[in-house]
Amino acid sequence: MSAAALKPLLPGEATLGVMGGGQLGRMFVHAAQSLGYRTVVLDPDADSPAGLVAHEHIRAGYLDEAGLTRLAEVADAITTEFENVPAQALEQLAARRFVAPAGASVAYCQDRAAEKAHFKASGVACAPYAVIESAADLAAVADSLLPGILKTSRMGYDGKGQIRVRNRAELQAGWDELKQLPCVLEQMLPLALELSVLSARGADGTVVQFPVQQNLHRDGILAVTQVPAPSVSEALQQQALASAARIATEMGYVGVLCVEFFVLQDGSLVVNEMAPRPHNSGHYTMNACDVSQFDLQVRAMARLPLRTPRLHSPTVMLNLLGDLWFPQAPTPAGTQAAPQGGVAALGSGPAGGEPPVERTPPWDSVLALPGTHLHLYGKASARPGRKMGHLNITAATAVEAERLAREAAGLLGLSQDW
Ligand code: ATP
Ligand code: MG
Repeated sequence: MSAAALKPLLPGEATLGVMGGGQLGRMFVHAAQSLGYRTVVLDPDADSPAGLVAHEHIRAGYLDEAGLTRLAEVADAITTEFENVPAQALEQLAARRFVAPAGASVAYCQDRAAEKAHFKASGVACAPYAVIESAADLAAVADSLLPGILKTSRMGYDGKGQIRVRNRAELQAGWDELKQLPCVLEQMLPLALELSVLSARGADGTVVQFPVQQNLHRDGILAVTQVPAPSVSEALQQQALASAARIATEMGYVGVLCVEFFVLQDGSLVVNEMAPRPHNSGHYTMNACDVSQFDLQVRAMARLPLRTPRLHSPTVMLNLLGDLWFPQAPTPAGTQAAPQGGVAALGSGPAGGEPPVERTPPWDSVLALPGTHLHLYGKASARPGRKMGHLNITAATAVEAERLAREAAGLLGLSQDW
């Protein structure tokens, strides 16, 4: 029976399962539970953020036979919260249960070469690139791709597995550093800014989309998302939305898909990469829209109707990394050395050499600002660069959201360079 012919899984009756227990799984579980579904999470970690809140936590590896069997037994439909879940596990589950997105769609997102080939097939321009799998491929790289960014084809995230290379010597050294794994070399593009588009596609082919997000990355990690996108023309936004819809439809994708784009200095649009799941840049939807990206993931996998979400409040999202817990750390990613506002006293840690003292950021001061929505992921310990939560700042106007977000960033000691 085709997926489209399957009946909806009604709230209050069914169990939804998720592979992976990180923060995306946790927010998915929250959304599913508020609609009345039972939830089950498979993740090996006893303290996984999603496992802590689901009705059932199957503590097992992603290829564990007994774990997968249990998941297929209790869940009526299954999704994934990360793209590096073994495709084999999804296929195994799909033999028994409805799995969205399908293993074949996730496989495109696991391999940069396959992903770029799919962008081309969908008629969407990406950065000029070459696939490097051998010394001969490396030697054959066109000069025009340098300077470039060498990225491992598989398992990269948050800028990890990437090396910037200016010339052939650096390219060779970079490939050696990446252990001569299969890579793609992308031409270094002159970026003006970065965008992303979240689409949800149903088993019946319906596509609905959130408004375009404008994203600022620091050190390869998302730092700030603004919606509506302040610096992007209406025409370019329409182009990004249409491109993302084509990319989803061409794969027969079911579920929420995030497509990241670059806007180049000449104003043209280039696709960067995609994620087969809700995305960090879509966390603003939880407070800014009448349905969130997680609600739409639930609807898509339960085969409930998809309706275009409505943005009701301009929003700025600030990502909260573990650095915030260590205001004295020497080079905290995305934070300023000296916190501003009411937290200066908290920053007076020990003299250099000693390990930095952990503090709880001044949430009470931040929550005193109107329109602030704090989401913490329930992680037991903070580490620099670790995603601990996010702060959505909503307001009646974009100008006001912006002003409040800068005030909140100041209180937290976050950079205001957006
Ligand atoms: P994530 O999965 O967290 O989004 P990632 O590790 O898969 O990140 P990319 O999205 O490929 O990494 O790249 C990270 C960042 O590096 C981009 O958001 C962009 O700022 C910069 N970048 C990547 N590719 C290029 C390019 N070809 N030209 C210029 N900048 C680039
Ligand atoms: Mg990216």
